[in-house]
Amino acid sequence: MQKTWIEIHAGKFKENVKFFRERLENHVTLSLVIKSNAYGHGLEEIARLGEKNGIQHFCVHTLEEALEIKKHVKKATVLIMGYMATDEVEKAIAQEIEMVCFNLDFIETVSKTAKGLNRDAIVHLKVETGTNRLGMGKEEIKILIPILQKIKNVRIKGLYTHYANIEDTTDHSYAQDQLTRFLAIKEMLDAAGIQPEQLHTACSAAILLFPQTHFQLVRLGISQYGLWPSRETYLSYLHKKKTNDVEALKPILTWKTRVAQVKNVSEGAFVGYGCTYKLSRDSKIAVLPIGYADGYDRKLSNQGYVLIKGKRAPIRGRICMNLTMVDVTDIPEAAVHDEVVLIGNQGDENISVEQVAAWADTIHYEVITNLGSHIPRKIINND
Ligand SMILES: *Cc1c(COP(=O)(O)O)cnc(C)c1O
Repeated sequence: MQKTWIEIHAGKFKENVKFFRERLENHVTLSLVIKSNAYGHGLEEIARLGEKNGIQHFCVHTLEEALEIKKHVKKATVLIMGYMATDEVEKAIAQEIEMVCFNLDFIETVSKTAKGLNRDAIVHLKVETGTNRLGMGKEEIKILIPILQKIKNVRIKGLYTHYANIEDTTDHSYAQDQLTRFLAIKEMLDAAGIQPEQLHTACSAAILLFPQTHFQLVRLGISQYGLWPSRETYLSYLHKKKTNDVEALKPILTWKTRVAQVKNVSEGAFVGYGCTYKLSRDSKIAVLPIGYADGYDRKLSNQGYVLIKGKRAPIRGRICMNLTMVDVTDIPEAAVHDEVVLIGNQGDENISVEQVAAWADTIHYEVITNLGSHIPRKIINND
């Protein structure tokens, strides 16, 4: 019996993949972004589930993640979208892992390393269009072009960019400007005879809202897990697609723990470190064996609730490193070993990731990526 675990609902994941497949033209490759332990869902678990559902393309941030995927999905095509140390390049080339280039000197390193291995490195160029994160702007691309025209052992397979302001607003003009800049750089490369076969720009919000951003490949992150990128994206989607399919995406994750202890505590007593909660009545307090070391945000202290026996039990006092206290006075049947839901459904009640994010004053992306990697992930196949 485990003290905490995460259930991944395979059927719901399948429905999400199907939902996106049906919205992409046939020539568009659906790539799953499974960086940061698949947004906390479990890298191995999601890579395997992806493969089961016919997906062979994955995007990650590090070489470590890419190598892990290659272990579990033999035929996987993997693109590393993040920084690579010089000594990592060789491993990537040897395993045919695709790499991003966002620095001029990187391309020389890659070429030299590939020559040494007598192979071709597969590279995607990252274009700066307005996020001012990783990427090369117009001037750098101008310098890069003559280098690319001569370079050996490097195959420029992709050209891509990332939107800065697509989830956070219902005004999509900034994203439109980025797309225009992206296409201008594509034209520059085109004129120089450099024509990458895969253009890609779309994250979840762009996939959902703008088919003109799809090109040859899309990078599906948060929404494969059944989560909307934001409320703005959700509303824009319903409005734009003239649909009221409010449950188009299915959240695939449930986070559970168990009751470790139940105790009676008198009116006027305090709960937890710092005595931040004083009981206003004689109470029953349940102690849960999870805390901020598991990714249960300390900002949830005295905020929100968990589910026990299908009912809401409010969090009392501060979240500790490994323990959390909740009030079960109104759930008299609560007992040691009972299952507790921290995120997900129990009975008729639900705690959404968005709700937890609101309590913790952050975004749902952060709530799920913070889920401890030590927590076991279990695939649930029959619900
Ligand atoms: C994380 C990431 C994505 C996926 O974004 P979502 O909003 O989760 O779909 C796509 N592209 C890049 C470059 C990313 O870093």
